[in-house]
Parts: sequence; C-alpha cells; structure tokens
Amino acid sequence: MDRIQPNRLDRGFFLYQKEFEDKALEVLRSGWYILGNEVKSFEKEFAEYVGSEHCVGLASGLDALWIAFRVLGIGVGDEVIVQGNTYIASVMGITINGATPVFVEPDQYFNIDASKIEEKITDKTKAVLVVHLYGQASNMDKIVEICKKHNLRLVEDCAQAHGAKFKGKQIGTFGDIGCFSFYPSKNLGAFGDAGAITTNDANIADDVRVFRNYGSEKRYYNRVVGTNSRLDEIQAGFLRIRLKYLDELAEEKKNICERYLNELHNDKIELPKTREGATHIWHQFVIRSDHRDDLMKYLDEKDIGTIIHYPIPPHLSEAYKYLGLKAGALPITEKYAKTVLSLPLYNGMLKEEQDFVIDAINNY
Ligand SMILES: *Cc1c(COP(=O)(O)O)cnc(C)c1O
Repeated sequence: MDRIQPNRLDRGFFLYQKEFEDKALEVLRSGWYILGNEVKSFEKEFAEYVGSEHCVGLASGLDALWIAFRVLGIGVGDEVIVQGNTYIASVMGITINGATPVFVEPDQYFNIDASKIEEKITDKTKAVLVVHLYGQASNMDKIVEICKKHNLRLVEDCAQAHGAKFKGKQIGTFGDIGCFSFYPSKNLGAFGDAGAITTNDANIADDVRVFRNYGSEKRYYNRVVGTNSRLDEIQAGFLRIRLKYLDELAEEKKNICERYLNELHNDKIELPKTREGATHIWHQFVIRSDHRDDLMKYLDEKDIGTIIHYPIPPHLSEAYKYLGLKAGALPITEKYAKTVLSLPLYNGMLKEEQDFVIDAINNY
C-alpha cells in the first residue's frame, strides 16, 4: 500500500472524472471565461442549497471575508470578535480593512466559547466573526442572541463547513454575511481558488457584486473603488458538478469518521465531540493528545501522514506581533495548538487505508 496522505485531492477528481473533463471542454469551447452563465447558475444553485436569498461568487475565501467587512463599513478603529484558534485567513479578513481582531477562547468543540463573548465587547466592537471550525456548526442560538442584544453585525466564516446545520438551519444564513471558500481541499472544492458570500440582504449582495468587479455595475462606469475578485467560469462549472454530489460526498466522509469514532481506542488520545443541535460535516477529523508530537512521528514512521491545524495560533504568529499579545494570552487556544492532530480523511479513502490508520493508532 502507498503512503497514506492526510488528504488526496486526486481521488476526489477521479470520482467524477468524465463530468469534470466534459465541463472543462465545454467552457473552453464556449469562448466565455469570466462572469458568464456558469457563475450565474452556480450562484443560484448554491444560494438554494444553503437556503439563502443571494450568493455572489468571488475569487477566494479570504476575499469573501475582507470584502464582507468592507461592504459592512467595518475598518480602522473598529473591533471584531473572533475565536483565537482559527486559520489565519479569518483574522486577515478583519485586519486587511484596518480593524482590530479581539480574540475569544474556544470551547471543547473547537468553536468560539459563546459564554466568553460578552466580556470582550467594548464601545468599539462592531461585529462577531464566527468560524465553524473543522466542519462543525457553532453555538448559533447564543451567538445570534448576543449580536442582537448588543447591535453587532454577524459574519460567518463557513470555509470549512459547507452544509453544516445548527438546529436544522444551515450555516451561512444566521448573520449578515456568510463567507465560503472553495479552495481545492475544502468539502466543496474547486480545482483552483474560488469563494463566495451568501446573504439575505439584497443591498449587501449588490454591493459585493459591484465591488468584486472594480466597483462597476455598468461597464466603464465605476461606483466605488473596488477590486478584481471574480469567480472563473471554469471553476464555477466544476463547483456545479461537486455541488450536485455534496451531500453524497459528506455522507462518505461521515461514514469514515463514524468508523474512527467507534473503532479508535487509545487512552492517549481524545476523540472529537459534536455539540447537541449541531451537525458536523467533517472537514477535518481532529483528535487531541498530550503526546501529539510523538504520535505524529510514530504515524509518520508507519507511512501515515497527519497534519496540525494549526501549529501557531494567529495571535502568536509573526504577522500579528503588532497586536502585542504574548504566549499565555490565550491558554486554551495555545493548548489546542500543542495537542491537536488531524487524521487522514478524504473522499475516495479506501477501507484498507482506514483499517491501517485505525490499527496503527490503537497499537500506539
Ligand atoms: C480556507 C479557509 C479560509 C480562506 O479561504 P481561501 O479560499 O484559501 O482564501 C478562511 N477561513 C478558514 C477557516 C479557512 O479554512
């Protein structure tokens, strides 16, 4: 057996190879490559899937985040609350606009601890950015209530959780704007960079649509200083194919994770938990261990690749030194960075690959 990698994007391609190849040729031969019918159709189909009024396709998940804060008018002098243990792009979405991230510790489900949000609210707080990390929906009842009470904007970072639900309602529909990434490794992945926002507010959708295309709604007439963040026709075409199979693909990943949950038995590891009322679409299967680095080395020697999501929390990264936060500022976040480990997980993962990972961990 080949080395087991943390993720295998080629397997996802081969599952629907013919459809992807046909679509690529169709778009190549159409003569229309930017903002055409594929993008329009994908936006409509994805909005329907999420249960949102509008979807606007963009060039990446990071663009979705920073453009979201930009159109909400959140920038210099404003504070945005976000969990400490997120991918750094969440934080960059805030700081690109000049706003200041205010970090809150995560709960045992790796999402923001809603009971610790209110103590961080100041006169400058304008929004909460909730990240549905690893694929699990956050504690939305509580978070929506806090945002309403304090008149804060709510932005969702849905990059890892396409299709996850809280009490039956899909993420990306709870706040002002939902931000999605379709980076190839995400659960709904393109074959290149891509992203989108969802919103129920027609004005926000319109502002994002104009902003992504140099601030222009009519050719050569520019309403605002925008950017170029357009979703390619070819990527939109690929995403439409993946979207058709998204629930099926999620079911396959769920079955693998159920095997991990039922068959992994080792006192040295802690398995992930799912909050009551939340669903998990298993972007990553993240365990915790006090022996993490040693376990990772042991698995590597057995030809099993694993990844740490994420070894350095944003507040301790060199990029955010200017925020002035030191080691010890966020003890839970920092502890997670030292103990989390993502096991191999991908669509098309063979049963013998799953068995091999389970046996190796149980024998550790
Ligand atoms: C991947 C990711 C992003 C950024 O998406 P890109 O498409 O790579 O720009 C943002 N937030 C989270 C939580 C992510 O996992």
